Amino acid sequence: MSITIQIAYLVASILFVLGIKMMNKTKSARQGNRLSALGMLIAIIATLLQIQVISMVEIFGCIVLGSAIGLYYANKVEMTKMPEMVAIFNGFGGLASFTVALSDYFLRTTVQMESIELVTVISIIVSVFIGGLTFTGSIIAFLKLNGNISGSPITFKGQHPLNLVLFLSFLTAAVFNVMDQSDPILIIVLIVIALVLGVLTVIPIGGADMPVVISLLNSYSGMAACATGFILNNNVLIVAGSLVGASGIILTQIMCKAMNRSLINVLLGGFGQTTSGPAGDGPSITVKEVGVEETAMLFDSVSSVIVVPGYGMAVAQAQHVIRELMEQCEKRNIDFKFAIHPVAGRMPGHMNVLLAEANISYDKLIEMESINDDFQNTDLVLIVGANDVVNPAARNNPQSPIYGMPVLNADKARTVIVSKRSMGKGYAGVENELFGYPNCLMLFGDAKQTITKVVTEMKEM
Ligand code: NDP
Repeated sequence: MSITIQIAYLVASILFVLGIKMMNKTKSARQGNRLSALGMLIAIIATLLQIQVISMVEIFGCIVLGSAIGLYYANKVEMTKMPEMVAIFNGFGGLASFTVALSDYFLRTTVQMESIELVTVISIIVSVFIGGLTFTGSIIAFLKLNGNISGSPITFKGQHPLNLVLFLSFLTAAVFNVMDQSDPILIIVLIVIALVLGVLTVIPIGGADMPVVISLLNSYSGMAACATGFILNNNVLIVAGSLVGASGIILTQIMCKAMNRSLINVLLGGFGQTTSGPAGDGPSITVKEVGVEETAMLFDSVSSVIVVPGYGMAVAQAQHVIRELMEQCEKRNIDFKFAIHPVAGRMPGHMNVLLAEANISYDKLIEMESINDDFQNTDLVLIVGANDVVNPAARNNPQSPIYGMPVLNADKARTVIVSKRSMGKGYAGVENELFGYPNCLMLFGDAKQTITKVVTEMKEM
C-alpha cells in the first residue's frame, strides 16, 4: 500500500474520531456528521485508487444504485420509523462483512488454492459469525418493529440451551476450520449456525426492547467490519469498525441504565408485553379531565412551565404546535423549558431531534439530572404523550416492573396536565399512578389536535 493511501486512511480515521467527538453535543452534532462523511469519502476514494480486479463501471454502477436507494428511503422515512431503518442498515452492514469474509475465504481456498494464515482465518471466522448473526438478527428486529411478525417474545422450551449447543458447535467447527480449510462443509456449517443464531437470539426479545437490541446489533456490525479490516489488511476499516463497535456498546449501556435494566435481562427477553406484573393488573385509577379552554386559562395564569415530551409527541407529530405554545408563553413572560428523559420516545435522542426539527433552541432542552429539582418550584407541567418516563411508581412502588428506572419528577409540580388520547399504557405496559394524583389533570385527545386548540384559545385571549 502506497504512503499516500496510508496517509489518506489516517486522515479519514482522524475525521471519524473528531466527528464522533463532535456528536457529543447537540450543537456540533451536524458538523460532526459532515466531518465523518468527509472521512468516509476520503476512505472510499483511497480504496478505489487501489482497485485492480473489478472495473470502475461496476463499482460506480453499484455506488449510484446503492446511494439512490439510500437517499430515497432516508428522505421518505418518518421519524417514528427510524429504529426500523437503523435495523436494516445494521443488517446490511453485517451482511457486507459476512460476504466479504466469505469471498476472501473462497478466493484463497478454491481459486488461489492456498492455505490461509492463522490471523486471517480467525478474522474470517469472527466476521462470518458476527456478520451473519447481525444480518439475520437485524432482519428479525426490523420485522418485529415493522409489525410483519409478532412483537411479542417468541419463546420455546430449551431455547437457551439450544443456543448454547449451537454456539459450542460453532466453536468446534471453527477449530477444525482453522486446522484444515480444504473441506468446504466446515465453512458451510459455520455460515448456517451464525445465521440461525441471529434469528434465535432475537426472537425471544419483545418488540418494545428492539431499540436496545438494535443498538447492540449496531455494535456487532462494527465488530464484524473491524474483523473484515484484518482480513483485507485495511486500517481504516479496522478503525471505523472499532469506533462503531465501541460507540454501539456504550450507547447500549446508557439505554439499559436509563431503563434500570441489565443487558442480560434485555437479551433473555420477555419484557415489554402489554401486561406485566402487579402494577399492570392493578385497580384502575380515577382521573380528573380538563378541557381545552381551561388548559389555555391555566397557561395564561402561570409564571413557569415545563413541557415533558414523550413517544406520543412523536406519534402525533406535535412538536411544531408545541413551539407555537412556547411562543405564546414567552409572549406572556412565562419561564418555559423542556425536560428531556434519556429514553423518552423510542430511540436515543428522539425528543431532541424532533424538537430541533421544530426550531426549538437547544438551550431550552434540559436533561433529566439538571431539571429534576426544578419541578417542585414549577407552576405547570405539560406532559405530551409521555408515560413511563414520568411514572412515580418507578420511585415509590417496589412491585412495579419499572421500579428503579430514573424518572422525571413531573408529579412534584403544582399542577400537571397530561396530553394523551386515552388511559392507554406506555411501552412498559404498566398503569401510571400519576394520572390519579390530586394535582394531575388529563387533557384527552391526539396531542397535536388538542394543543393546536389550546394555542388558538391562547391567541384569542
Ligand atoms: P411511553 O411509551 O411510556 O408512552 C407513550 C404514551 O404516548 C402512551 O401512553 C400513549 O397513550 C401516548 N400517545 C400515543 N399516541 C399519542 C398521540 N397521538 N397523542 C397523544 N398521546 C399519544 O413513552 P415515554 O416516552 O414516556 O417512554 C418511553 C418508553 O420507551 C420507556 O419505557 C423506555 O424505556 C422505552 N424505550 C425507549 C427507548 C429509547 O431509546 N428512547 C428504547 C427502548 C425502549 P395513549 O395511547 O393513551 O394516547
